[in-house]
Amino acid sequence: DLPVADVDPEIAAVLRDELLRQQTTLEMIASENFVPRAVLDCQGSVLTNKYAEGYPGRRYYGGCEHVDVAEQLAIDRAKALFGSDHVNVQPHSGAQANAAAYHALLRAGDRIMGLALDHGGHLTHGMRLNLSGRLYDVVPYGVERDSGLLDMERVAEIARATRPRLIVAGWSAYPRKLDLAAFRAIADEVGALLMVDMAHFAGLVAADLHPNPVPFADVVTTTIHKTLGGARGGMILCRAEHARAIDSAVFPGQQGGPLEHVVAAKAVALKIAASPQFRDRQLRTVLGAKAIAAALTEAGDVGVWSGGTDVHLVVADLRDSPLDGRDAERRLEQIGITANRNAVPFDPRPPMVASGVRLGTSALATRGFAVEEFEALGETIAIALGPRFDAERERLRDRCRALAERHPLYPDLARTTIAG
Ligand code: PLP
Repeated sequence: DLPVADVDPEIAAVLRDELLRQQTTLEMIASENFVPRAVLDCQGSVLTNKYAEGYPGRRYYGGCEHVDVAEQLAIDRAKALFGSDHVNVQPHSGAQANAAAYHALLRAGDRIMGLALDHGGHLTHGMRLNLSGRLYDVVPYGVERDSGLLDMERVAEIARATRPRLIVAGWSAYPRKLDLAAFRAIADEVGALLMVDMAHFAGLVAADLHPNPVPFADVVTTTIHKTLGGARGGMILCRAEHARAIDSAVFPGQQGGPLEHVVAAKAVALKIAASPQFRDRQLRTVLGAKAIAAALTEAGDVGVWSGGTDVHLVVADLRDSPLDGRDAERRLEQIGITANRNAVPFDPRPPMVASGVRLGTSALATRGFAVEEFEALGETIAIALGPRFDAERERLRDRCRALAERHPLYPDLARTTIAG
Protein backbone atom coordinates (compact mmCIF):
# COMPACT_ATOMS: atom_id res chain seq x y z
CA ASP A 1 0.00 0.00 0.00
CA LEU A 2 1.98 2.92 -1.31
CA PRO A 3 1.64 6.67 -0.73
CA VAL A 4 0.37 8.87 -3.51
CA ALA A 5 3.91 10.07 -4.27
CA ASP A 6 4.75 6.51 -5.37
CA VAL A 7 1.42 5.53 -6.92
CA ASP A 8 0.85 8.70 -8.88
CA PRO A 9 3.73 11.19 -8.98
CA GLU A 10 1.78 13.53 -11.27
CA ILE A 11 -1.02 13.96 -8.74
CA ALA A 12 1.49 14.09 -5.87
CA ALA A 13 3.11 17.01 -7.67
CA VAL A 14 -0.26 18.79 -7.83
CA LEU A 15 -0.70 18.36 -4.05
CA ARG A 16 2.80 19.64 -3.40
CA ASP A 17 2.48 22.61 -5.77
CA GLU A 18 -0.91 23.61 -4.37
CA LEU A 19 0.41 23.44 -0.81
CA LEU A 20 3.29 25.68 -1.83
CA ARG A 21 0.91 28.10 -3.55
CA GLN A 22 -1.25 28.32 -0.42
CA GLN A 23 1.81 28.78 1.79
CA THR A 24 3.50 31.49 -0.24
CA THR A 25 0.57 33.66 -1.36
CA LEU A 26 -2.06 35.62 0.53
CA GLU A 27 -5.50 34.06 0.14
CA MET A 28 -8.23 36.68 -0.04
CA ILE A 29 -11.00 34.83 -1.87
CA ALA A 30 -13.88 35.59 0.49
CA SER A 31 -15.46 32.14 0.19
CA GLU A 32 -12.22 30.32 1.08
CA ASN A 33 -10.50 29.40 4.30
CA PHE A 34 -7.83 27.02 5.61
CA VAL A 35 -9.11 23.95 7.41
CA PRO A 36 -7.30 22.73 10.49
CA ARG A 37 -5.19 19.61 10.36
CA ALA A 38 -7.92 17.71 12.28
CA VAL A 39 -10.33 18.32 9.39
CA LEU A 40 -7.77 17.10 6.85
CA ASP A 41 -7.29 13.99 8.99
CA CYS A 42 -11.00 13.16 8.78
CA GLN A 43 -11.29 13.89 5.08
CA GLY A 44 -8.37 11.62 4.30
CA SER A 45 -9.69 8.83 6.53
CA VAL A 46 -11.20 5.35 6.14
CA LEU A 47 -14.67 6.79 6.63
CA THR A 48 -14.57 7.49 2.88
CA ASN A 49 -15.06 3.72 2.39
CA LYS A 50 -18.43 3.58 4.10
CA TYR A 51 -21.90 3.54 2.57
CA ALA A 52 -24.47 4.92 5.00
CA GLU A 53 -27.65 5.82 3.11
CA GLY A 54 -30.24 6.95 5.61
CA TYR A 55 -29.71 8.76 8.92
CA PRO A 56 -28.09 7.79 12.26
CA GLY A 57 -29.94 4.79 13.71
CA ARG A 58 -31.98 4.41 10.48
CA ARG A 59 -29.54 3.24 7.80
CA TYR A 60 -29.99 1.08 4.74
CA TYR A 61 -26.57 -0.53 5.24
CA GLY A 62 -24.93 -2.60 7.95
CA GLY A 63 -21.79 -1.58 9.78
CA CYS A 64 -22.85 2.02 10.36
CA GLU A 65 -22.38 2.05 14.13
CA HIS A 66 -19.25 4.21 14.01
CA VAL A 67 -20.26 6.64 11.31
CA ASP A 68 -23.53 7.05 13.21
CA VAL A 69 -21.54 8.41 16.14
CA ALA A 70 -19.76 10.95 13.93
CA GLU A 71 -22.94 12.09 12.18
CA GLN A 72 -24.87 12.41 15.44
CA LEU A 73 -22.03 14.47 16.92
CA ALA A 74 -22.11 16.79 13.90
CA ILE A 75 -25.90 17.17 14.20
CA ASP A 76 -25.85 17.78 17.96
CA ARG A 77 -23.00 20.28 17.75
CA ALA A 78 -24.72 22.24 14.97
CA LYS A 79 -28.00 22.26 16.90
CA ALA A 80 -26.25 23.56 20.02
CA LEU A 81 -24.10 26.11 18.17
CA PHE A 82 -26.96 27.69 16.22
CA GLY A 83 -29.90 26.80 18.47
CA SER A 84 -31.76 24.92 15.77
CA ASP A 85 -34.54 22.32 16.23
CA HIS A 86 -33.26 20.10 13.46
CA VAL A 87 -30.10 19.77 11.37
CA ASN A 88 -29.15 17.78 8.30
CA VAL A 89 -25.38 17.58 7.80
CA GLN A 90 -25.40 15.47 4.64
CA PRO A 91 -25.60 17.95 1.72
CA HIS A 92 -22.46 17.54 -0.35
CA SER A 93 -22.26 21.28 -0.99
CA GLY A 94 -23.97 24.59 -0.42
CA ALA A 95 -25.67 24.36 -3.81
CA GLN A 96 -27.08 20.95 -2.91
CA ALA A 97 -28.25 22.21 0.47
CA ASN A 98 -30.16 24.97 -1.30
CA ALA A 99 -31.59 22.63 -3.94
CA ALA A 100 -32.76 20.24 -1.20
CA ALA A 101 -34.36 23.07 0.79
CA TYR A 102 -36.28 24.22 -2.30
CA HIS A 103 -37.23 20.65 -3.09
CA ALA A 104 -38.59 20.22 0.45
CA LEU A 105 -40.60 23.44 0.53
CA LEU A 106 -41.65 24.18 -3.04
CA ARG A 107 -43.19 22.72 -6.14
CA ALA A 108 -41.86 23.40 -9.62
CA GLY A 109 -43.27 26.69 -10.85
CA ASP A 110 -43.63 28.23 -7.39
CA ARG A 111 -42.46 31.80 -7.06
CA ILE A 112 -39.29 32.63 -5.12
CA MET A 113 -37.64 35.95 -4.36
CA GLY A 114 -33.85 36.11 -4.14
CA LEU A 115 -31.08 38.72 -4.23
CA ALA A 116 -29.99 39.24 -7.85
CA LEU A 117 -26.64 37.71 -8.77
CA ASP A 118 -25.22 41.04 -9.91
CA HIS A 119 -26.27 42.61 -6.60
CA GLY A 120 -24.38 40.04 -4.52
CA GLY A 121 -26.75 37.04 -4.59
CA HIS A 122 -25.70 33.47 -5.32
CA LEU A 123 -26.35 31.42 -8.45
CA THR A 124 -28.65 29.17 -6.43
CA HIS A 125 -30.89 32.10 -5.49
CA GLY A 126 -32.60 32.06 -8.86
CA MET A 127 -30.00 32.74 -11.54
CA ARG A 128 -31.42 31.98 -15.00
CA LEU A 129 -29.12 29.06 -15.84
CA ASN A 130 -29.15 27.51 -12.36
CA LEU A 131 -31.67 24.81 -11.47
CA SER A 132 -33.27 27.38 -9.11
CA GLY A 133 -33.90 29.71 -12.04
CA ARG A 134 -35.18 26.96 -14.30
CA LEU A 135 -37.51 25.22 -11.84
CA TYR A 136 -39.01 28.21 -10.08
CA ASP A 137 -40.58 31.52 -11.05
CA VAL A 138 -37.92 33.94 -9.86
CA VAL A 139 -38.50 37.53 -8.78
CA PRO A 140 -35.15 39.16 -8.02
CA TYR A 141 -34.64 42.00 -5.57
CA GLY A 142 -31.62 44.26 -5.41
CA VAL A 143 -29.76 46.97 -3.54
CA GLU A 144 -30.30 50.71 -3.89
CA ARG A 145 -28.24 52.63 -6.41
CA ASP A 146 -27.19 55.41 -4.02
CA SER A 147 -26.33 53.47 -0.90
CA GLY A 148 -25.48 50.03 -2.27
CA LEU A 149 -27.67 48.71 0.55
CA LEU A 150 -30.86 46.69 0.74
CA ASP A 151 -33.81 48.93 1.48
CA MET A 152 -36.23 46.66 3.30
CA GLU A 153 -39.22 48.81 2.38
CA ARG A 154 -38.39 48.20 -1.30
CA VAL A 155 -38.01 44.48 -0.67
CA ALA A 156 -41.44 44.56 1.01
CA GLU A 157 -43.00 46.37 -1.96
CA ILE A 158 -41.73 43.71 -4.37
CA ALA A 159 -42.99 40.94 -2.07
CA ARG A 160 -46.43 42.56 -1.76
CA ALA A 161 -46.69 42.96 -5.52
CA THR A 162 -45.51 39.47 -6.42
CA ARG A 163 -46.57 37.26 -3.46
CA PRO A 164 -43.70 34.74 -3.51
CA ARG A 165 -44.03 31.33 -1.88
CA LEU A 166 -40.49 31.64 -0.50
CA ILE A 167 -38.10 34.51 0.13
CA VAL A 168 -34.36 33.82 0.14
CA ALA A 169 -32.16 36.10 2.23
CA GLY A 170 -28.41 35.65 1.96
CA TRP A 171 -25.54 36.64 -0.27
CA SER A 172 -22.15 35.87 -1.73
CA ALA A 173 -20.97 39.46 -2.01
CA TYR A 174 -22.82 41.94 0.18
CA PRO A 175 -20.70 43.73 2.74
CA ARG A 176 -23.34 44.35 5.40
CA LYS A 177 -25.45 42.48 7.96
CA LEU A 178 -28.96 41.49 6.99
CA ASP A 179 -32.05 42.84 8.74
CA LEU A 180 -33.46 39.42 9.56
CA ALA A 181 -36.42 40.73 11.57
CA ALA A 182 -37.51 42.78 8.56
CA PHE A 183 -37.21 39.75 6.26
CA ARG A 184 -39.35 37.73 8.71
CA ALA A 185 -41.97 40.47 8.90
CA ILE A 186 -42.18 40.68 5.10
CA ALA A 187 -42.48 36.91 4.77
CA ASP A 188 -45.27 36.87 7.37
CA GLU A 189 -47.08 39.74 5.72
CA VAL A 190 -47.21 38.09 2.31
CA GLY A 191 -47.58 34.52 3.56
CA ALA A 192 -44.15 33.37 2.33
CA LEU A 193 -41.62 31.01 3.84
CA LEU A 194 -38.24 32.51 4.74
CA MET A 195 -35.02 30.75 3.86
CA VAL A 196 -31.72 32.28 4.95
CA ASP A 197 -28.57 31.15 3.16
CA MET A 198 -25.87 32.04 5.70
CA ALA A 199 -23.07 30.29 3.78
CA HIS A 200 -20.84 33.35 3.85
CA PHE A 201 -21.49 34.59 7.36
CA ALA A 202 -22.08 31.34 9.31
CA GLY A 203 -18.75 31.74 11.11
CA LEU A 204 -19.72 35.24 12.21
CA VAL A 205 -23.04 33.90 13.49
CA ALA A 206 -21.25 31.16 15.44
CA ALA A 207 -19.07 33.86 17.01
CA ASP A 208 -22.01 36.17 17.81
CA LEU A 209 -20.78 38.80 15.38
CA HIS A 210 -23.83 38.60 13.10
CA PRO A 211 -27.46 38.05 14.19
CA ASN A 212 -28.41 34.38 14.14
CA PRO A 213 -30.92 33.67 11.36
CA VAL A 214 -32.22 30.47 13.01
CA PRO A 215 -34.90 32.16 15.17
CA PHE A 216 -36.19 34.11 12.16
CA ALA A 217 -36.11 31.61 9.31
CA ASP A 218 -38.10 28.52 8.46
CA VAL A 219 -34.98 27.03 6.97
CA VAL A 220 -31.32 28.08 7.13
CA THR A 221 -28.78 26.68 4.69
CA THR A 222 -25.03 27.04 4.81
CA THR A 223 -21.69 25.78 3.67
CA ILE A 224 -19.19 24.66 6.29
CA HIS A 225 -16.09 25.79 4.40
CA LYS A 226 -16.32 29.58 4.23
CA THR A 227 -16.11 31.69 7.41
CA LEU A 228 -17.00 28.56 9.39
CA GLY A 229 -13.59 27.27 8.32
CA GLY A 230 -14.36 23.57 8.06
CA ALA A 231 -14.85 20.74 5.60
CA ARG A 232 -16.09 21.56 2.11
CA GLY A 233 -19.81 20.79 2.17
CA GLY A 234 -23.29 21.96 3.10
CA MET A 235 -25.78 21.79 5.96
CA ILE A 236 -29.45 22.60 6.50
CA LEU A 237 -30.96 23.81 9.79
CA CYS A 238 -34.72 24.01 10.15
CA ARG A 239 -37.74 24.23 12.38
CA ALA A 240 -39.10 20.92 13.65
CA GLU A 241 -42.13 21.15 11.36
CA HIS A 242 -39.90 20.96 8.27
CA ALA A 243 -37.55 18.25 9.58
CA ARG A 244 -39.05 15.29 7.75
CA ALA A 245 -39.44 17.17 4.49
CA ILE A 246 -35.83 18.41 4.64
CA ASP A 247 -34.35 14.99 5.46
CA SER A 248 -36.39 13.33 2.76
CA ALA A 249 -35.40 16.00 0.21
CA VAL A 250 -31.69 15.39 0.89
CA PHE A 251 -32.00 11.58 0.95
CA PRO A 252 -33.57 9.96 -1.01
CA GLY A 253 -34.75 13.14 -2.76
CA GLN A 254 -31.42 14.27 -4.07
CA GLN A 255 -28.42 12.32 -2.82
CA GLY A 256 -27.39 8.73 -2.30
CA GLY A 257 -24.69 7.86 0.22
CA PRO A 258 -23.50 10.67 2.45
CA LEU A 259 -19.78 11.49 2.53
CA GLU A 260 -19.18 10.27 6.06
CA HIS A 261 -15.50 11.28 6.02
CA VAL A 262 -16.71 14.82 5.32
CA VAL A 263 -19.50 14.54 7.89
CA ALA A 264 -16.88 13.64 10.53
CA ALA A 265 -14.81 16.62 9.41
CA LYS A 266 -17.91 18.82 9.71
CA ALA A 267 -18.31 17.58 13.30
CA VAL A 268 -14.73 18.61 14.09
CA ALA A 269 -15.23 22.04 12.54
CA LEU A 270 -18.43 22.59 14.51
CA LYS A 271 -16.63 21.68 17.74
CA ILE A 272 -13.89 24.20 16.95
CA ALA A 273 -16.47 26.85 16.02
CA ALA A 274 -17.79 26.78 19.59
CA SER A 275 -14.37 27.69 21.06
CA PRO A 276 -13.16 31.10 22.34
CA GLN A 277 -10.19 30.91 19.90
CA PHE A 278 -12.66 30.70 17.03
CA ARG A 279 -14.44 33.81 18.25
CA ASP A 280 -11.13 35.69 18.42
CA ARG A 281 -10.40 34.62 14.85
CA GLN A 282 -13.80 35.84 13.61
CA LEU A 283 -13.26 39.14 15.39
CA ARG A 284 -9.90 39.59 13.64
CA THR A 285 -11.65 38.62 10.40
CA VAL A 286 -14.22 41.41 10.72
CA LEU A 287 -11.80 44.03 12.09
CA GLY A 288 -9.38 43.09 9.31
CA ALA A 289 -12.03 43.68 6.64
CA LYS A 290 -12.86 47.03 8.21
CA ALA A 291 -9.13 47.94 8.19
CA ILE A 292 -8.88 47.10 4.49
CA ALA A 293 -12.01 49.11 3.66
CA ALA A 294 -10.57 52.06 5.63
CA ALA A 295 -7.22 51.87 3.82
CA LEU A 296 -8.90 51.83 0.39
CA THR A 297 -11.12 54.75 1.37
CA GLU A 298 -8.20 56.76 2.69
CA ALA A 299 -6.13 56.23 -0.47
CA GLY A 300 -9.17 57.22 -2.52
CA ASP A 301 -8.16 55.68 -5.86
CA VAL A 302 -11.04 53.18 -5.81
CA GLY A 303 -14.45 53.15 -4.17
CA VAL A 304 -15.75 50.72 -1.57
CA TRP A 305 -19.20 49.17 -2.05
CA SER A 306 -21.55 50.65 0.59
CA GLY A 307 -18.65 52.70 1.98
CA GLY A 308 -17.30 49.94 4.22
CA THR A 309 -18.13 46.56 5.70
CA ASP A 310 -19.63 44.82 8.73
CA VAL A 311 -18.54 41.35 7.70
CA HIS A 312 -15.55 39.38 6.39
CA LEU A 313 -15.38 40.94 2.96
CA VAL A 314 -14.84 44.23 1.20
CA VAL A 315 -15.79 44.89 -2.40
CA ALA A 316 -13.58 47.48 -4.09
CA ASP A 317 -15.79 49.46 -6.46
CA LEU A 318 -13.97 50.24 -9.72
CA ARG A 319 -16.85 51.80 -11.63
CA ASP A 320 -15.07 55.18 -11.64
CA SER A 321 -11.60 53.72 -12.04
CA PRO A 322 -9.69 53.16 -15.29
CA LEU A 323 -8.90 49.77 -13.79
CA ASP A 324 -11.53 47.06 -14.27
CA GLY A 325 -12.15 43.98 -12.09
CA ARG A 326 -10.00 41.74 -14.25
CA ASP A 327 -7.07 44.20 -14.19
CA ALA A 328 -7.39 44.50 -10.41
CA GLU A 329 -7.42 40.73 -9.96
CA ARG A 330 -4.29 40.45 -12.14
CA ARG A 331 -2.45 43.22 -10.32
CA LEU A 332 -3.12 41.58 -6.97
CA GLU A 333 -2.00 38.24 -8.33
CA GLN A 334 1.27 39.82 -9.45
CA ILE A 335 2.06 40.83 -5.87
CA GLY A 336 1.01 37.51 -4.36
CA ILE A 337 -2.61 38.13 -3.36
CA THR A 338 -5.37 35.82 -4.62
CA ALA A 339 -8.78 37.49 -4.93
CA ASN A 340 -11.61 37.44 -7.44
CA ARG A 341 -13.20 40.05 -9.65
CA ASN A 342 -16.84 40.55 -8.88
CA ALA A 343 -19.71 42.46 -10.41
CA VAL A 344 -20.87 45.46 -8.39
CA PRO A 345 -24.49 46.62 -8.47
CA PHE A 346 -25.32 48.63 -11.61
CA ASP A 347 -22.05 47.47 -13.13
CA PRO A 348 -21.42 49.05 -16.53
CA ARG A 349 -18.88 46.36 -17.47
CA PRO A 350 -19.72 42.80 -18.57
CA PRO A 351 -19.52 40.05 -15.88
CA MET A 352 -16.29 38.51 -17.24
CA VAL A 353 -14.57 41.88 -16.76
CA ALA A 354 -16.66 43.39 -13.93
CA SER A 355 -16.08 46.58 -11.94
CA GLY A 356 -15.34 45.09 -8.55
CA VAL A 357 -12.82 42.98 -6.76
CA ARG A 358 -13.95 41.02 -3.68
CA LEU A 359 -11.46 40.83 -0.81
CA GLY A 360 -12.09 38.45 2.07
CA THR A 361 -10.16 38.26 5.32
CA SER A 362 -11.25 34.84 6.65
CA ALA A 363 -8.37 32.73 5.42
CA LEU A 364 -5.73 35.22 6.57
CA ALA A 365 -7.35 35.54 10.01
CA THR A 366 -7.16 31.75 10.25
CA ARG A 367 -3.51 32.02 9.33
CA GLY A 368 -3.07 34.29 12.35
CA PHE A 369 -3.14 37.81 10.89
CA ALA A 370 -3.52 40.52 13.52
CA VAL A 371 -5.51 43.69 12.89
CA GLU A 372 -2.29 45.74 12.38
CA GLU A 373 -1.21 43.30 9.68
CA PHE A 374 -4.54 43.73 7.93
CA GLU A 375 -3.93 47.49 8.11
CA ALA A 376 -0.55 47.04 6.40
CA LEU A 377 -2.16 44.75 3.85
CA GLY A 378 -4.91 47.30 3.19
CA GLU A 379 -2.28 49.93 2.44
CA THR A 380 -0.52 47.49 0.11
CA ILE A 381 -3.74 46.71 -1.77
CA ALA A 382 -4.61 50.40 -2.02
CA ILE A 383 -1.24 51.14 -3.67
CA ALA A 384 -1.65 48.13 -5.97
CA LEU A 385 -5.01 49.43 -7.21
CA GLY A 386 -3.73 52.98 -7.66
CA PRO A 387 -1.47 54.87 -10.08
CA ARG A 388 1.81 53.91 -8.32
CA PHE A 389 1.43 50.19 -9.02
CA ASP A 390 4.09 49.82 -11.71
CA ALA A 391 6.72 51.71 -9.73
CA GLU A 392 5.96 49.89 -6.49
CA ARG A 393 5.26 46.37 -7.73
CA GLU A 394 8.46 44.73 -6.44
CA ARG A 395 8.20 46.32 -3.03
CA LEU A 396 4.54 45.31 -2.69
CA ARG A 397 5.35 41.74 -3.66
CA ASP A 398 8.12 41.62 -1.03
CA ARG A 399 5.73 42.95 1.60
CA CYS A 400 3.14 40.27 0.81
CA ARG A 401 5.78 37.55 0.82
CA ALA A 402 7.03 38.76 4.23
CA LEU A 403 3.49 38.71 5.65
CA ALA A 404 3.00 35.15 4.39
CA GLU A 405 6.31 34.05 5.92
CA ARG A 406 5.37 35.57 9.26
CA HIS A 407 2.38 33.19 9.45
CA PRO A 408 3.50 29.73 8.34
CA LEU A 409 0.69 27.58 6.97
CA TYR A 410 0.62 23.81 7.48
CA PRO A 411 4.31 23.75 8.47
CA ASP A 412 4.25 20.00 9.13
CA LEU A 413 2.33 18.99 6.05
CA ALA A 414 5.25 19.28 3.66
CA ARG A 415 7.00 16.47 5.52
CA THR A 416 4.08 14.02 5.19
CA THR A 417 3.18 11.69 2.39
CA ILE A 418 0.13 13.83 1.63
CA ALA A 419 2.33 16.47 0.09
CA GLY A 420 4.83 14.04 -1.41
N1 PLP B 1 -24.73 29.92 -1.02
C1 PLP B 1 -23.94 30.99 -1.01
C2 PLP B 1 -24.43 32.25 -0.40
C3 PLP B 1 -22.65 30.92 -1.55
O1 PLP B 1 -21.88 32.00 -1.56
C4 PLP B 1 -22.21 29.69 -2.10
C5 PLP B 1 -20.86 29.53 -2.67
O2 PLP B 1 -20.13 30.38 -2.94
C6 PLP B 1 -23.09 28.61 -2.12
C7 PLP B 1 -24.33 28.75 -1.57
C8 PLP B 1 -22.74 27.33 -2.78
O3 PLP B 1 -21.83 26.56 -2.11
P1 PLP B 1 -21.04 25.39 -2.89
O4 PLP B 1 -20.02 26.06 -3.70
O5 PLP B 1 -20.54 24.52 -1.79
O6 PLP B 1 -22.06 24.67 -3.73
